[in-house]
Amino acid sequence: MQRTGSAALLRVATLSLAALAWTAASALQTPTAELHWYKGNLHTHTINSDGDSSPDAVARWYKEHRYHFLALTDHNYFTDPQGLNSFLAAKEKFLLLRGEEVTASVHINAFGLSKTIEPLRLPTIFETLQQNVDHIRAQGAMPSLNHPNFHWAVSQDELARVNNLKLFEVYNGHPTTNEQGGGGSPSLDAMWDHVLGAGKRMWGIAVDDAHSFKQLSPDLSNPGRGWIQVHARELSEKALLDAIDKGDFYASTGVELVSLDRGAGRLSLEIKTRETEKYTVRFLGKGGKTLLETFENPAEYRLKGGEPYVRAQVIDSNGRKAWTQPVFAE
Ligand SMILES: [Zn+2]
Ligand SMILES: [Zn+2]
Repeated sequence: MQRTGSAALLRVATLSLAALAWTAASALQTPTAELHWYKGNLHTHTINSDGDSSPDAVARWYKEHRYHFLALTDHNYFTDPQGLNSFLAAKEKFLLLRGEEVTASVHINAFGLSKTIEPLRLPTIFETLQQNVDHIRAQGAMPSLNHPNFHWAVSQDELARVNNLKLFEVYNGHPTTNEQGGGGSPSLDAMWDHVLGAGKRMWGIAVDDAHSFKQLSPDLSNPGRGWIQVHARELSEKALLDAIDKGDFYASTGVELVSLDRGAGRLSLEIKTRETEKYTVRFLGKGGKTLLETFENPAEYRLKGGEPYVRAQVIDSNGRKAWTQPVFAE
């Protein structure tokens, strides 16, 4: 009886060891997917709304300028990229994402939609913002608030109150989007810190909002001014939108990073330097307070007791910038 029991125990132990060995082997066989940087613009118009060029001309501009991805976001019109992707997409090189600028008194981009999303028009700005965000989510798409300071559409308090919104434009290349604020209204950076300080987790993107491809001028909305660099496992719409949702990207108007590490309570980055430029790294916290300003590269900041979050801005000596997403105290 006892002999049988020992044999059974031994057998169980052997099986467990075999199971452990199998688990270890399969863990070795599935390494963590390697991540790559993909450059893209999430806001651009074509002649399907108020842009001056056809969807294929617009897509070609970005592909020829070495962007990896682009969302065509026409006003209240879904420019379906499927046909364009069939001849312009190239594995790991270029991809058009599905997009639309849902346009009422507030403009909200939707990414990953399947058909035109009609805007909802409500009596107040806040209701319009919240209902359209929820409406976009209900269609399985990702909402992003566009140019909050264009016509001073959305105040920082409205932005801090809205739910289910994770993205907003901290930079928009259109010349009348009042990035710096003015007349007592906050800059887009100050709005972001207001929202983060109120406990909301929101990521900032930089976009072109390009309309004009035929004429180039500072007072026209031309392409090539603002973009994001996404750290994702592959160039697919799902992998990009998942990485964006997690904040695994930075926004840029010309500063490039070699590496970016957002750990728990810790943010570090390394700038890809150009000989002609000098760089300042500013780590910002609640209320837009500068927690650390440094000229070191790489640069790092660790949250100290009581600081709810830190984000970084890198500025080059010609005013070009990069914005990282915030890291929070857990
Ligand atoms: Zn707009
Ligand atoms: Zn637009």
